[in-house]
Amino acid sequence: MAGRLDGKVAVITGAASGIGLGTVELFVAEGCRVVAADIQDEKGRALEQRFGQAVRYARCDVTDEAQIAAAMALAKSEFGGLDILFNNAGISDGMRQIVEIEAERWDWIYSVLVRGPALGMKHAVPLMLERGGGAIINTASIAGMQAGWGPIAYSSAKAAVLHMSKVAAAQLSPQKIRVNAICPGLIATSIFGASMGLPREVADQMAARVAEMGGTVQPIPKAGLPSDIAEAALYLASDAGAFVSGTHIVVDGGITVGSRHAWDPNATSPF
Ligand code: NAD
Repeated sequence: MAGRLDGKVAVITGAASGIGLGTVELFVAEGCRVVAADIQDEKGRALEQRFGQAVRYARCDVTDEAQIAAAMALAKSEFGGLDILFNNAGISDGMRQIVEIEAERWDWIYSVLVRGPALGMKHAVPLMLERGGGAIINTASIAGMQAGWGPIAYSSAKAAVLHMSKVAAAQLSPQKIRVNAICPGLIATSIFGASMGLPREVADQMAARVAEMGGTVQPIPKAGLPSDIAEAALYLASDAGAFVSGTHIVVDGGITVGSRHAWDPNATSPF
């Protein structure tokens, strides 16, 4: 089934690790050329070595509009245009009570998670219109759908991403630009360790261990992996999703329907 993105060009933010990296791998395997945007320069440049002509790294902090514009411009100068934007870069936060909110930290989280994707769309759309259309995918979260899966700034920012995707879809779909979101459940990546302030290497090791352990809580008893989210992004980015806009796909192993322990007599209680 390879070749589902033949001739397409994508910008993927947060491409150096986790879900973004998994999506670079799948998109390239499907024939896409990718601008991998991130702030982890060493890992980003390693992608150029690994994928050769198919990937260019852009140092792009999504809190900086000029760097976002430059990443989009790189897609045009290196690969001739832009068809797909995966707004995926993200950070999390420690579990904070409302009374613990720090205004500066709140602004930073919203700047990465909400303003970043908004500005990404702003600078991607003119290039997509030159190609006659495109597909935008924003990474939200189950934390944006239900309370209890994440800290307050993170969760409310992800809810904003869901709604922003719908508003953008209403505006852009008549111009053949589809906009959708993905809500990952618990995916084994280094975001959890990174949000606890651990060095990236330690956070990466933690993520690898979680992936090995498998899923223990969600009804589907396997660990959620970046490739699970990449497959959803591929569906939304490719012609398979041609009639899909303004919605979101939940990829969570069924966790938002409730805990596996409610009905699986063989599941070991996590409590
Ligand atoms: P990750 O930490 O492996 O990847 C996040 C990437 O974003 C990193 O490469 C990081 O360098 C990059 N990044 C962080 N701040 C940036 C900035 N200012 N500019 C550019 N890049 C930046 O974590 P992940 O789990 O792959 O996260 C990807 C997305 O998935 C995030 O938006 C996250 O909120 C979302 N998400 C993850 C989970 C999960 O369980 N892992 C669940 C729901 C949603």
